[in-house]
Amino acid sequence: MQQAVSTSMDLTFHTFQPLGFTLPEPIKELERIAMNFYWSWHPEGFDLFRSIEPELWDKSEQNPQRFLADVSQLRLWQKANDSDYLSRLKRFVERFDLYMSESASDVVNGPTKSNPAAYFCAEYGIHNSLPIYSGGLGILAGDHLKSASDLNIPLVAVGLLYRYGYFRQRIAHDGWQEENYTNIFNLGLAIEQVLDESGERVTVMVHIRGREVHAQAWLVRVGRIKLYLLDTNINENDEIDRMITGHLYGGNTETRIVQEKVLGIGGVRLLRKLGISPSVFHLNEGHSAFLTLELAHEYLVANPEASFEEAQDAVRPQCVFTTHTPVAAGNDAFSTGELHSCFDQNFIAGLKLTDQEFFGLGRIDPGDVDEPFGMTPFALRMCRSANGVSEKHGEVSRGLWKEMYSENIEPNDVPITHITNGVHAPTWIAPGYQSIYRDEIGEDWAKLLTDRKAWEDAIVRIPDRRMWEQHVRLKSLLIAFIRERTRSKETGSKDTINEHRDTRKLFSPDVLTIGFARRVAAYKRWNLLLTDLERVLKMVDHPERPVQFVFAGKAHPQDRTAKQILQELMSINHDSNWQKRAVFVEDYDQEVARYLVQGVDVWMNVPRRPLEASGTSGMKAAMNGALNFSVLDGWWIEGYNGKNGFAIGELDVDDDVEMDAEDAESLYSTLETKVIPTFYSKGDEGLPTEWIAMMKNSIATLTPQFSTDRMVMDYVEHIYRN
Ligand SMILES: *Cc1c(COP(=O)(O)O)cnc(C)c1O
Repeated sequence: MQQAVSTSMDLTFHTFQPLGFTLPEPIKELERIAMNFYWSWHPEGFDLFRSIEPELWDKSEQNPQRFLADVSQLRLWQKANDSDYLSRLKRFVERFDLYMSESASDVVNGPTKSNPAAYFCAEYGIHNSLPIYSGGLGILAGDHLKSASDLNIPLVAVGLLYRYGYFRQRIAHDGWQEENYTNIFNLGLAIEQVLDESGERVTVMVHIRGREVHAQAWLVRVGRIKLYLLDTNINENDEIDRMITGHLYGGNTETRIVQEKVLGIGGVRLLRKLGISPSVFHLNEGHSAFLTLELAHEYLVANPEASFEEAQDAVRPQCVFTTHTPVAAGNDAFSTGELHSCFDQNFIAGLKLTDQEFFGLGRIDPGDVDEPFGMTPFALRMCRSANGVSEKHGEVSRGLWKEMYSENIEPNDVPITHITNGVHAPTWIAPGYQSIYRDEIGEDWAKLLTDRKAWEDAIVRIPDRRMWEQHVRLKSLLIAFIRERTRSKETGSKDTINEHRDTRKLFSPDVLTIGFARRVAAYKRWNLLLTDLERVLKMVDHPERPVQFVFAGKAHPQDRTAKQILQELMSINHDSNWQKRAVFVEDYDQEVARYLVQGVDVWMNVPRRPLEASGTSGMKAAMNGALNFSVLDGWWIEGYNGKNGFAIGELDVDDDVEMDAEDAESLYSTLETKVIPTFYSKGDEGLPTEWIAMMKNSIATLTPQFSTDRMVMDYVEHIYRN
């Protein structure tokens, strides 16, 4: 797969050409709106595009650049003559301009306008029209920027622009996952080339594999936040170096190292070139940890007499680190040989380090020459603070890395704290619910999220019927989406969950709908549900109280085991309703995620404990009134209160096999005795009163607690401040 990709590469396409469109004068402002992702988290914003031509909007994959280039001049002029449309546009532009005119507020002893926080991450999931993310980490980073923008935190972000992004997934006839990569420049992108005062491209240089590699900078506007992306696909570079920023998580270990050098070292150089002096560098995951070497290098240039230890002492107070995986193997680790070939001697010597001292920085035991260089131990050594992404993950991380600290340290004394993840409420809450909140709470409903008690009271007061009707509407939308998405895979003769005889008959809005969408990885236990297939089919086939399942998720291109798990799921072919009541939606991305989390009744998650560092999709579902049905791990341990969803399994089982068996039993019995009966029991006026009470409890308790507004404020208060 990788091979095929690298031979078909289009290396001549160096300069991004906007797709090019001319808008009629009265609607010219759309051009400006399309260049800032602010529109994407405001229903009135995306409606300005969609309402021009809804079908084309979907065909353009909600990408304004593509859409405006493809829409006909006739449609545009019709809108330019539509006074209702023009006043909606004017209102939106005023709101946007007002938003943009409020400059960031300085944080006492923290990030300020002149010394912002600098956020570094290898992927960003801002919108599906900018496909430079693979999953949870990227979405989290995107949501972090949106909340930082809404809260007006002085923050600037740095990442990489992957020319071929992450793969698009297709499932072949035999159930095997296929990957396709496209040059994202052909999609139309809301990015701008960064130019200096004299109109020259801003580039940085990083020494890699014995050559100077150049990277140019692009700017992405996320509300008030500026995200800079580095891109090595430029003329000045050799072909091989142009592909450094080719694929997200593609290539081999060496590709990883050189990408991470561009991100970390190139990223710091870019900020300097732009005249930005961050008060704190936030390493979101270890991928960017080489940035600390650049800071050390800067210090040693300014202080030629100083030692590396002194440089390290100067660097640590500026850097903070967030770890995201609860297993050592999940962290980037490089052999010294690989590292050696990507870092030249002069760089290491310039840090006043011997090779072995350098490699030791990335080892749990610096003296153990057999230990690879891990980006997590390295980041832990170079940063003043470290945190996991949920309370449980903090605890697990302290256990995982305690050997790095003094010999007899108690796990609780290991200096790794936690900030629990969140999601950006306006991005994930369905427009229909947002308008209920506007009606029932007020225009500024989102501000109430900082006052938990007031928010809970407001949600409880919303009439049951209104809540339920909105939910059913979203569920019907999901079903229509599923039918549309699967239509191209109609076989006419045979059903699997990926291919269907007749997609018009798929799913019913009256049936309890369970969503399961996540990366396909062993620990996520995709097959747990199928442990006892007969028992599942009994639920699916039940004449009065059936269940239907919607699945989505990508397997890593090189993970054959994960692809086999998917293939097995695709090939179940049974004499039952399974094929009509279970579907697999291809190419899980932000758009698919939005339909799913907004439309299902139940969001299921069954990771093997304690391997789910946090998980965030369940938070999105909760905010839309779906009930979580999950293993008590990651965020759900903190969120679950007995009345806002369902828990699977016991907390303390050590043995994996035993845990799988117990969790499967718990999953089935909870479905049979709790989830299904509660969903189907009707109270007053035919409404599922008990279920609605749980929905409201879920929205009331989980929305404020798991929003990125709360999360970003926690970072500001507890991590970014000096
Ligand atoms: C939210 C999201 C994720 C992360 O979800 P998990 O709960 O961590 O599995 C991954 N991919 C997409 C497209 C998402 O929207």
